[in-house]
Amino acid sequence: MNNIDYILKKDDFTKEDLVILLNTNEEDRKKIFEKAAEVKKTYVGNKVYFRGLIEFSNICSKNCYYCGIRAGNNKLVRYFVTEDEVLEAVKYAYNEGYASLVIQSGEQSTKAFTESIYNLLMKINSITDNKMGITLSLGEQSEETYLRWKEAGARRYLLRIETSSRELYSKLHPNDKHHDYDERLNALKLLRKTGYQVGTGVMIGLPFQTVEDLADDLLFFKEFDIDMAGMGPYIEHEDTPLYQYKDQLLPKEERFILSLKMVALLRIMMKDINIAATTAMQTLDKMGREKAIKVGSNVIMPNLTPVKYRENYLLYEDKPCIDEEASECKNCLEARIHIAGDEIGYNEHGDSIHFKNRQ
Ligand code: SAH
Ligand code: SF4
Repeated sequence: MNNIDYILKKDDFTKEDLVILLNTNEEDRKKIFEKAAEVKKTYVGNKVYFRGLIEFSNICSKNCYYCGIRAGNNKLVRYFVTEDEVLEAVKYAYNEGYASLVIQSGEQSTKAFTESIYNLLMKINSITDNKMGITLSLGEQSEETYLRWKEAGARRYLLRIETSSRELYSKLHPNDKHHDYDERLNALKLLRKTGYQVGTGVMIGLPFQTVEDLADDLLFFKEFDIDMAGMGPYIEHEDTPLYQYKDQLLPKEERFILSLKMVALLRIMMKDINIAATTAMQTLDKMGREKAIKVGSNVIMPNLTPVKYRENYLLYEDKPCIDEEASECKNCLEARIHIAGDEIGYNEHGDSIHFKNRQ
C-alpha cells in the first residue's frame, strides 16, 4: 500500500494529508476521484438537482480585485432584471420541474434593494404555492436583512469566503471595512444564526494562493460545518486589477485539475453536503461540469437570466452559455448529467442532507 492508499483509508485528513493529496500526480489522483465517487453514491446517491440561476443585477457597491462586475469597471452597462422578467423565469423553472432557484446579484444594501428582494420573494412564493426552494447569493447584509428575507421564504444562502486565508483575502480586496475578512466571516455566522442552510466556497488557483491555503480552505469548510459548497477555478478578467498577475497563474488545465481535486476531497471529508458543479469549471474544460459530477458534485445551476443581460454579468473571461435560452440550457445540461451517469432530481428540493441531519 502506498502513502496515498494509506491516507485515503483515514476518516479525517490533516493539513499535511491534504497537501499531499492536492499535489498528487495523474495516477494517484484517480484514486482520490474513485473514492469520492464511491462516497457520493453511498451518501447522496446519483441524483443531481437543478437550481435555476437568475443573475438579478450587476450593480455592485464593492470592488473585489478579481471580479469583472466590480464597481470600478465602467465598461459595463448596469442592469436590473425586471420583476416581470424574474417571475417569467420562475414560471418556466416551476413548470419544468426545477424545484429550486438561486437569485444572485452584485452586492447592494440600500433599503430600496433589500425591500425589492423581499417583495420579489413574496411574489415568487405566491405564484409557486411556496413550493420553490429559494437560495440567495446577495453578498454581505445585516442580520435584520437576512431575517427579513427569511421571513419572505428564502431558505438557503451562498456566500463564498473566497479564501480562508486572512492574508490572501487582503491581497484580493481593497483595504477597507467594506472588504474585510472578519466582516465576511461574521456574515457567514449571521447566516447560520438566522437559520439558513449555509453555503460557502473559494476560488482555486488565485494569484499568490498556495496548496497549503487550499488545504486550509477544506479544513475551514469542515470546521464551519457548512451545508453546501460552490467552488471553482479563479479565471482572470481583463478589466480587473488582478489581471496584471495573469502570467503567474497555473496553466488553465492544471487549475481545472486542482479544482476537481478540491471537489473530490471535500466530498470525501463532508459526505452529505451539497456541492455545486460550477460554471467556472466548465469555462476551463468543456466537460468540466460532467467531470465535477463524477467526482462528487450533486447540484447544477442552469442559467435562467434573460439572454439580453448575460454579457453584462461576466464575472470572468470566456464565461460559457451566455447566448443560450433557458430551454437550450436545460437540454444541454440534461445530456451532460446523463453522460456523467447520473439522473436529475426533478420536482425535488434536494435540500442538503447534512443540514437535515444537523437539525
Ligand atoms: N456579490 C455576491 C454574489 C455574486 S459574485 C458575492 O460576492 O458574494 C459570485 C461569486 O463569483 C463570488 O463569490 C466569486 O467567488 C465569484 N467570482 C468573481 N470573480 C471571479 C473570477 N474572476 N473567477 C472566478 N470566480 C469569480
Ligand atoms: Fe461585487 Fe460579488 Fe463581484 Fe465582489 S465578487 S465585486 S461583491 S459581484
